[in-house]
Amino acid sequence: MLDAGFFQRWMAAAAAAVDREADRLTDLDSTIGDADHGANMRRGFAAVTAALEAEPQPTPGAVLLVAGRRLVSTVGGASGPLYGTLLRRAGKALGDAAEVTPQALAEALGAGVAAVAQLGGAAAGDKTMLDALEPGVDALGRGGDFAVAARAAAEGAAATVPMLARKGRASYLGERSVGHQDPGATSSALLFAALEEVAA
Ligand code: ADP
Ligand code: MG
Repeated sequence: MLDAGFFQRWMAAAAAAVDREADRLTDLDSTIGDADHGANMRRGFAAVTAALEAEPQPTPGAVLLVAGRRLVSTVGGASGPLYGTLLRRAGKALGDAAEVTPQALAEALGAGVAAVAQLGGAAAGDKTMLDALEPGVDALGRGGDFAVAARAAAEGAAATVPMLARKGRASYLGERSVGHQDPGATSSALLFAALEEVAA
């Protein structure tokens, strides 16, 4: 069972991973976007950890609600509202349970992913964060294994390389978006890697 402490550690590990990989995220975004994804994610997750340290939350759902709200209010780019929606919707789905199973987390994240798809109008194969989020969430739902989910999300991010971007800034490039990994899918894979790290 996963309690509020686990979720706080997940958000802290996500912030550390995003901080470590910020230059890479920005490099990817400089190739098919506007070179701010690393800075966006770093600023957003730094605000998330600051908020959770200042005011630890009593339940898993509350941790994700606070994290999602902080992302929306601190990240200006497309990714802020999208990641904010993912975490807020998942937090809402977890309700006020004190502990949740990995399968319940997968279901909640599944609701979050559906909300992201609705907000951004994107689907799997459009070369966005959804291409890592969907396989990660699906894998977690199947076996409840965080390592398997992290691998699925990383493979999903790698699979965006040959895709043609159909949403977001990268879509302005048309065919020139082919051959590069999507920055948002890359950061989504980091969120799953952080989950694996915290569960180990
Ligand atoms: P911006 O594009 O505003 O500069 P970021 O650089 O922080 O924002 O984030 C870019 C990432 O956001 C993309 O790599 C992609 O994964 C994701 N993204 C952009 N638009 C959408 C969308 N409509 N649906 C899903 N994900 C999207
Ligand atoms: Mg950008």
